[in-house]
Amino acid sequence: MPQTLKISPNDPREYRHLVLSNQLTVLLVRDPSASKSAGAMTVKVGQFDDPCDREGMAHFLEHMLFLGTDKYPVAGEYQQFISQNGGSHNAWTGPEFTSYYFDVKPDAYHEALDRFCQFFTAPLFDEHLVDKERQSVDSEFKMKLQDDTRRFYQVHKETVNPLHPFSKFSVGNQQTLDDRDGQPVRDALIDFHQSHYSANLMTLVLVQAEPLDPLEQLVHEQFSQINNHNGDKQLPDLPLYSDNELGIEISIMPIKKARQLTITFPLGSLDDWYRHKPLTYLSYLLGHEGEGSLMSVLRQDGYIVQLSAGGGINGYNFKDYNISFQLTELGLTSIDHIIAVTFQFIKLVADSGFDQWRYQERQLLLERAFRYQEQAKPVDIACHLAVNMHHYDVEDILYGDYRMDGLEEGIVRQVLAQFTIDNIRLSVVAPDIKTDQQAKWYDTPYAISPISAERKARWFELELDSRLSLPEPNEYISDLLDPRPSEGNKPSPEVIYRNDQLVFWHKKDDEFNVPKAHLFVALDSDNCHKTCRAAAITRLYINLLTDSLTEITYAAEVAGLSYNIYPHQGGLTLHLSGFTGGQERLLAVLLQQARQRNFPQTRFDDIKQQVLRSWNGSRNARPISRLFSALTTTLQQRSYSPLDMADELETVTLDELHQHLDEVYSNLRVESMVYGDWTRVEAEGQAERLQLLLKEIGQPGSEVPRQLISIDDKGTVFREIESFHQDSAILVYYQSRSNDLKKMALFCLLNHAISSDFFHELRTKQQLGYMVGTSYVPMNRCPGIIFYIQSPVAGPLQLLEAIDQFISDFGYALMQISNKQWEETKSALANQISEQDSNLKAKAQRAWVSIGGKDFSFSQRQKVAALLSNIDRAELIRFMMERMRSRDPNRLVLHTSGSSHSDMTPLKGAQQITDLAGFKHQAKLLEF
Ligand SMILES: [Zn+2]
Repeated sequence: MPQTLKISPNDPREYRHLVLSNQLTVLLVRDPSASKSAGAMTVKVGQFDDPCDREGMAHFLEHMLFLGTDKYPVAGEYQQFISQNGGSHNAWTGPEFTSYYFDVKPDAYHEALDRFCQFFTAPLFDEHLVDKERQSVDSEFKMKLQDDTRRFYQVHKETVNPLHPFSKFSVGNQQTLDDRDGQPVRDALIDFHQSHYSANLMTLVLVQAEPLDPLEQLVHEQFSQINNHNGDKQLPDLPLYSDNELGIEISIMPIKKARQLTITFPLGSLDDWYRHKPLTYLSYLLGHEGEGSLMSVLRQDGYIVQLSAGGGINGYNFKDYNISFQLTELGLTSIDHIIAVTFQFIKLVADSGFDQWRYQERQLLLERAFRYQEQAKPVDIACHLAVNMHHYDVEDILYGDYRMDGLEEGIVRQVLAQFTIDNIRLSVVAPDIKTDQQAKWYDTPYAISPISAERKARWFELELDSRLSLPEPNEYISDLLDPRPSEGNKPSPEVIYRNDQLVFWHKKDDEFNVPKAHLFVALDSDNCHKTCRAAAITRLYINLLTDSLTEITYAAEVAGLSYNIYPHQGGLTLHLSGFTGGQERLLAVLLQQARQRNFPQTRFDDIKQQVLRSWNGSRNARPISRLFSALTTTLQQRSYSPLDMADELETVTLDELHQHLDEVYSNLRVESMVYGDWTRVEAEGQAERLQLLLKEIGQPGSEVPRQLISIDDKGTVFREIESFHQDSAILVYYQSRSNDLKKMALFCLLNHAISSDFFHELRTKQQLGYMVGTSYVPMNRCPGIIFYIQSPVAGPLQLLEAIDQFISDFGYALMQISNKQWEETKSALANQISEQDSNLKAKAQRAWVSIGGKDFSFSQRQKVAALLSNIDRAELIRFMMERMRSRDPNRLVLHTSGSSHSDMTPLKGAQQITDLAGFKHQAKLLEF
């Protein structure tokens, strides 16, 4: 009898589970909304299976499978086929599994599958490619030598039971994969493939929009060819840690300035208990962030910045339970204190943490998440399910991650009983920590020391901290809600409330049918970003506010409601998203907190330092990113560079911040929108409450103009950005004189027509750099286009000459393409512009952007797409000539000269912006 999957009631997909004659397990998925078709194959073979003298073999094999098969012998043919058909492909190798996946446009799916299947039936392992691919594995290894995660991972491997397969080096490199006397690596490769790649150890998931019958037939024909030798997976039944590796503290020196403590309790595998999820339950208590939680108490006392509970490596016979702390300087010198408080909290959980209602809260959240999943991409569905098929029974392939059958107190207690001083490992990461050895391959400095009995005893000397408590019932969690019935589907948001201070938009969504909504509240206040100093303070305020909200809003976050506060040119925006039911309450909490004027001095000092560090750190950003950011700060009247804001922020005091807030809140104008499962009546109620509150706060203000600096009639204007990097970079911006739809269509089309040629010419052929491109850039509703290059080999002058030469040749190139290509270019762009949004989030965000862009008919992009078909080549060329080919075209050139090009001729023009504030002050302004 065929087994059936438990499917979410709101899942529109159709599933078919089969086992082929060669024991390959297959899941076929029909997703009517899929715009691409996808496939994923997960093989139960991984780094743990590497031969001891050939570490990295599983990974190397993953690379080699892509490089030619019997039927498609040319290396690169698969990759080319996929990308020519609008798809993508990739693979990964993990400790116990390896996965291959791709997506592609539907009409190329069968051909893609034919190629994909060949990896598993007839790979060539072409001799001539072995060396090149080994080098690419080696460079992958070298590229991560400075990556702390990898560096710590190697230390972890060296501090476990050396007989356990986890101890093996997993990536591989030139040395582990070399050709030895009489033992070429290719022989080992073929051996490995033959012994481990067996159909019975593979799971295949295919996703497409079309009916499944023809696909099923094709799968039988193609994938039954995969060899089955009833591979039997046997990993050694040895403990991950023997007594030698327990009760130790590992000190590790990072490259980044991190300070971190991890307490690890090794547990056996708990996979069999996935139906009850004892660890999910425990992590819910230990990782809680509300009042009285472990995190709250340790943060209050200044020991930690962040806590996370429940992570840690996980495999066939092991699971590390980690409680990790990001430490402050004080925390680093108080590690034993932190451990002591942690054990107090664990005891609290053991003594009074077993309540049905707590489990049920968690259960309800997962049940709701299962029921109302947002649409995922076909390739993500395929990848996810192909892994799940290895872990869960058939009925749980979709449901396993969410299933919580009930509180099994016995098993939770059994787990908790392993949280002891004898079953513990500590790891401490800090910049100046004492070390006495180096990890193999990565040279990570580290040291191991046993934890003494006296030290362990000290962990229990502390008196119980009376502030510690278990979480209260979560008021944001409501019962399972169904989305409200339709109110007659309106095509787009409507204004339901308007006066001189507030405009409120509403759209009840009936399309995605989930009890979720997005609520935006944009506050405009002239004082927010009037000057650089004001903008710096506003941003500091947003950070302080967000910090002060962490504990208060934790319960809401747990219940699936999230929020984000961010600045915009006219002020700041609150964006709430997630399940309806608690959103009104959460908004009230946010607004209440936003009005407070009593930020503590200590938090002010800490957060100010954090913000300063981050702004000053913008020096280290890639040169091209600094030019992107300079583009907005040069042209938007109310945007300022992070470094300029940092200068101002240095001298800002807490009093000044409070004073600034009085000014900001004295005049407000608010634009708000709720999109999703809110009825009109609910939205009207919200609008009225918001209006009452605004009256209380201050006077009505007006909308802050989003002004853009005009570069019309100026010729080429240059601005040099200070360099902190070896590479040079350039960004050339052309601005539209007006913002009518036709101009949008022309700039969009120009970018679309030009971008791949530009990339091909300047990156591939001239090899000027890796980051090369063009982009359509609408700024404050004004269309424009940019050309950019970051280059290790050329200075700004040479880069500008290359761009100008390209532009001057492009008109001719455009004349050369066939009519058919031209029409295809236009229709591809039209499709891209009018693509449907696949989930509520994307849809809501797009509507909000339309409101910001004053596109109140919400139809701008359809209109732009429609205009494309009438643009002919001559018109586009004329458009380009007028704007870009005149002797001194109106444009802005931003550039930075890298340290390796200091001897090259500098880029200089007649018009140079040296005093940005002065330039912006005198400039003509565009305001659409
Ligand atoms: Zn790789």
